[in-house]
Amino acid sequence: MVSIIVPCYNEQEALPLFYREVSAVLGALPGGYELLFVNDGSSDGTLDLLRRLAQEDEHVLYLSFSRNFGKESAMYAGFCNARGDYVAVMDADLQHPPALLPQMLALLESGAYDSVAARRTDRKGEAPVRSWASRRFYQLIDTISEVDLADGVTDFRLMKRCMVDAIVAMDERDRFSKGIFGWAGFRTGFLPYENVERVAGTTKWSFWKLCRYAIDGIVNFSQAPLLLASWSGLLLLFAALVTIVFLLVRKLLFGGPVTGWTALVCAVIFVGGLQLLCLGIMGQYIAKICRETKGRPHYILSETNIDGAEPVK
Ligand code: UDP
Ligand code: MG
Repeated sequence: MVSIIVPCYNEQEALPLFYREVSAVLGALPGGYELLFVNDGSSDGTLDLLRRLAQEDEHVLYLSFSRNFGKESAMYAGFCNARGDYVAVMDADLQHPPALLPQMLALLESGAYDSVAARRTDRKGEAPVRSWASRRFYQLIDTISEVDLADGVTDFRLMKRCMVDAIVAMDERDRFSKGIFGWAGFRTGFLPYENVERVAGTTKWSFWKLCRYAIDGIVNFSQAPLLLASWSGLLLLFAALVTIVFLLVRKLLFGGPVTGWTALVCAVIFVGGLQLLCLGIMGQYIAKICRETKGRPHYILSETNIDGAEPVK
């Protein structure tokens, strides 16, 4: 059986189109399937639509959150409740072409891979600034993090049960799925595809939400920023020692009137700024520790048609 997890946040325009297309593809596959929609606190008619679909079609399951917990929590809820032998995550806006599913399934069944990820070969239709920033981000995180993260790899991937169980076991609060998939390991194949634009509705990610996501990704999967803070501190300490020796020698040899006010102020401002930056970096990690130790649930359900789904997890 194949489970498809679909996080939905205000997707009433796109959902009917998605449902029709994905049902057609899955219906043609051998073996059963389930469509597991996760309503991430939508404020439009998404939940009503899901209720109706669930009544008409027994393949449709849904979980509804008590508020917007974010796509990462929605995916986690999906993974926790999916019962399929193969599990995929797909966006509701048809940017992840359902037509790729049969190919992905064939690759998994051939036994060569444990997971197959779709990989965008271009970023057509995306704002140039956003494309540029995304590319730089993936380059950066791929270099400094402990996991492999290729540019263009999306959350759209079909996985075997063994990998899904591993992902469910990684129950950290601040989730960054692309890193989690990479960290979990397993043999992963990539399926290239051309970028598709959203069929209906608008993107749910603001520029700031994306920035936050990027910082989460780096802080969750890399200690490089901490290392950078330590090294720059060490470097500055060395520079300070050299300067102190130089100033002392000059003072002893030449005495002289007070000069160097500008240099002094520059040094104070520079070191002050650097200290704040390092404190900020450490703050990011401490905030993560704080959130993890509180151990709050990943999500709270307000409604579902799945028997035995944990209401708070
Ligand atoms: N999404 C969600 N919760 C959020 C934001 C987005 O469940 O807080 C879902 C959204 O409904 C969609 C998927 O995540 O199915 C991807 O979002 P979107 O298409 O807006 O992102 P983009 O493709 O622009 O990166
Ligand atoms: Mg999209």
